[in-house]
Amino acid sequence: MTLHIAGAGMAGLCAAARARELGLETVVWEKGDRAGGSMLLSSCVVWRYLDADAFRQECPHGDPRLQAQLIERLDEGIAWLRSLGAEVVWEETGNPRTLGVRFDPRSLTDALVRAAGEVRLSEAFPDDAAPLLLATGGFQGDRELVREHIAPAGELLLRANRWSTGDGLKLALARGAGASAGLGEFYGRAMPAPPAAVPEERFVELAQLYGARALVLDDAGEEFAPEQISWSETDLVQAIARRPNAQAWYVVDEEALAVEIRGRTVREMVLAARDAGGDVLLPNELGIDLPSTYAYAVHVVAGITHTIGGIRIDDRARVLDVDGEPLEGLYAAGADAGGIAAGGYASGLASALVFGRLAAETAASA
Ligand SMILES: Cc1cc2nc3c(=O)[nH]c(=O)nc-3n(C[C@H](O)[C@H](O)[C@H](O)COP(=O)(O)OP(=O)(O)OC[C@H]3O[C@@H](n4cnc5c(N)ncnc54)[C@H](O)[C@@H]3O)c2cc1C
Repeated sequence: MTLHIAGAGMAGLCAAARARELGLETVVWEKGDRAGGSMLLSSCVVWRYLDADAFRQECPHGDPRLQAQLIERLDEGIAWLRSLGAEVVWEETGNPRTLGVRFDPRSLTDALVRAAGEVRLSEAFPDDAAPLLLATGGFQGDRELVREHIAPAGELLLRANRWSTGDGLKLALARGAGASAGLGEFYGRAMPAPPAAVPEERFVELAQLYGARALVLDDAGEEFAPEQISWSETDLVQAIARRPNAQAWYVVDEEALAVEIRGRTVREMVLAARDAGGDVLLPNELGIDLPSTYAYAVHVVAGITHTIGGIRIDDRARVLDVDGEPLEGLYAAGADAGGIAAGGYASGLASALVFGRLAAETAASA
């Protein structure tokens, strides 16, 4: 039997490598002209919450069976990636809420490609391929789908590979699949707003990660941030998406500039935004009365990295129909499979790894 896999990113490559270990033939279809998807552009920290209860608290609307699988299966998945030769650059996440490692994204992609067998670049998957694993990386790249489900108040900045346009979701829905919770949610970052230039190789470096340290105003000068911004700031980024132009101003004082957040000071992030050509003003240039302790106002836009809702799956990565019954020969993993982190944020690479491998195991035992 040949397992067809749509997408040569994290989920698709993990599935292909695992399926081949289990004796299946595989073909990986890749729409883009390179393998690696958003994984190759990422910070590559593969992580989980400490236990299932913590996961539940952080992502209260996610499916608890999928969350339990992720907690149970991630550590062996990481060990397996190491065994394939992927290079670990940090042995911890630097976040006391989470456990995991940081891989070098190039080394991880290369290790997976070596193990994945046939990868057909620049070829979208054929609709009639069967059995089929959907691993196309979510729908953030499709403006229409984003407008329909997320309904931002302005143009979001696409902070992801440009090929993930919901092809997996469209096929699954056409075949009667159910949709997961969280279709209106996404994981992203505040990024320097236009006219800043934000090329994909600067997605990580240009993220503005200090919303919780800033006075956050929308383009009309109104303060709107959630009262308790979450540690990942995903809730703040989603809130920005719903303000005029999907943009905001992060106004920071001298004290905040010296604060270090995940290895960089706020000052460094502000200067990076300015270096990219973004609007970094003196607060009095905003035309509102602000205390003189404020040093800079940085114009940001909500950047979308991946969607959180998507295709409904079970804990063996089988696509479920609207009644919760598995659709024969159809699997989904990675950002195509939704509802794992609904209500919060969890590692997209981790779910791609765990459910990609699970999809291969389920297909091999079918
Ligand atoms: C800047 C940045 C930083 C990030 N940092 C982290 C991090 O530190 N930790 C973390 O957990 N996550 C991080 N992520 C998110 C992570 O990269 C994604 O969650 C992960 O790659 C999702 O895996 P995937 O396989 O679903 O999608 P991808 O890895 O994006 O792969 C999807 C693949 O499908 C292909 N495709 C799309 N449509 C088709 C089609 N019709 N036919 C064939 N192929 C198709 C795409 O071209 C792509 O190659 C980051 C992402 C970015 C962009």
